[in-house]
Amino acid sequence: MTLLERGIRSFIGRAAVVSVTAALLLLGACSSKAPVEGVILPPSDSISVVDRSVLWHTDEPARGLVRYGLDRGHLDHVAYPAAAAREDRSFVKEHRVTLLDVQAGRTIYYQVGVETSLSGCRFTAIDSFVSQLGPAPGVLTSTMVHIGFGDAHVLTMPTNGRHVLIDAGTREAAVSVRQYLLEHGIDAFSGMLATHVHIDHIGGILGYDRGGILASHPPSIFYDSARKDVGSEKYAYSEVQSMIAEENVDEAVLHRFDTSSSVAALQWDPEVEVTVLNSGTPDDYVPDGYEGTDINNESIVLLIAYGDVRFVIGGDAEQEAEASMLAAFAPADLEVQYYKVQHHGLSDASSTAWVNTLRPRVAFIPNTAWSWDGDLDGAISQTTGRLEAIGAQIYVIDDVPMIGEPRSMGIQHNITFATDGVSYEVRVETAQQTAPHKMASTASCVRGDPDLQNLFPLHDHEGDSGLDRVKTDSPPPTADSSQE
Ligand SMILES: [Zn+2]
Repeated sequence: MTLLERGIRSFIGRAAVVSVTAALLLLGACSSKAPVEGVILPPSDSISVVDRSVLWHTDEPARGLVRYGLDRGHLDHVAYPAAAAREDRSFVKEHRVTLLDVQAGRTIYYQVGVETSLSGCRFTAIDSFVSQLGPAPGVLTSTMVHIGFGDAHVLTMPTNGRHVLIDAGTREAAVSVRQYLLEHGIDAFSGMLATHVHIDHIGGILGYDRGGILASHPPSIFYDSARKDVGSEKYAYSEVQSMIAEENVDEAVLHRFDTSSSVAALQWDPEVEVTVLNSGTPDDYVPDGYEGTDINNESIVLLIAYGDVRFVIGGDAEQEAEASMLAAFAPADLEVQYYKVQHHGLSDASSTAWVNTLRPRVAFIPNTAWSWDGDLDGAISQTTGRLEAIGAQIYVIDDVPMIGEPRSMGIQHNITFATDGVSYEVRVETAQQTAPHKMASTASCVRGDPDLQNLFPLHDHEGDSGLDRVKTDSPPPTADSSQE
């Protein structure tokens, strides 16, 4: 019986959930494409483990990676080669991949993956070793938290352990984020920001009746952007502003080109550099979006660097903001290992020029099939095509973490990018928190409007679960009416 069969046949209860996750992850983690014929795997006796690193040789130049975990049936980590000298993207014959999350005294199950082109790969059979070492020290993590629809990212700094929150989903997602924080022992934030004022980003920070993350976990600093439209319809934003004043939270307004070297408020960790790529309406952009302002292009876009490893998180910045960033920064300064795909994977963001400049090795899409009436792959196919063309591996918050596998609306995940500043890996965790579940009627609404204008409608929608609270709890009738 294959792992997949075993997983499907035992799809009952908690243990089965783990089996299915593991089976599908095993099928898809190297690439969404089928295994490539002719890829010659290293013989098992040529693979060695030294400390936390797996080493092997291939006869042909290839890209390598390693899947591993504490359970033979649940290889929930994918580790990549070092970022220095672009080893992680290079086709080489001598391979070394460091595993950052091993446990001392525990058996680690792993398999080596080999890609000889950008279109597919093969894995060796699962092997194991007993680790003499514990987890690598000084690891920075950035977790995309499952909240239903929208963005929520929790960052943990490598040397001082401080936490930063970037977005927190819809108002109702405050409950999901808080459950996640409780599960993971996070009780305070050094910094917090909403990339932009749309309710699927700023909503959970605010919550209902001010019961959001800003109130339960008031940060030392709240980051804001200048040059944004804060007109009458931006009720959530003005509510956040008044909460910041009431809670005595310091506020820092970010501008493009700000860095952690020049702005004390961005000094999250002595070893982490932060650069503001975009914040508020770009200077050279005349807003012409559907809202007359194009709030998405106001998104705060941050480039975060730790050692050799860099990543970008930038809310819903669309192609206009991307063009502005490409004009403002040198291409070499924009290359990253990890890219949080902007605007939920829709094709009006992640232009070919943007993707080809960032050249991420891994990309996360903060989305679920239930946000798209089951057709997540269709909704984001243009963007995933651009990412796959450069050999990026795509992870989504969903029942199946990798693009290209069959989907249901069942198990959801939190997905973490972790790095020690040299190597990096992706960790997939079954989400323990509940999250707002969008019903088909809302998904139809969303699908009918490329800008998701009616995502949080003020009129009735039969079958909407939870979303009706938006219309009853948001004080002004115009609140959050045109958001996504
Ligand atoms: Zn959004």
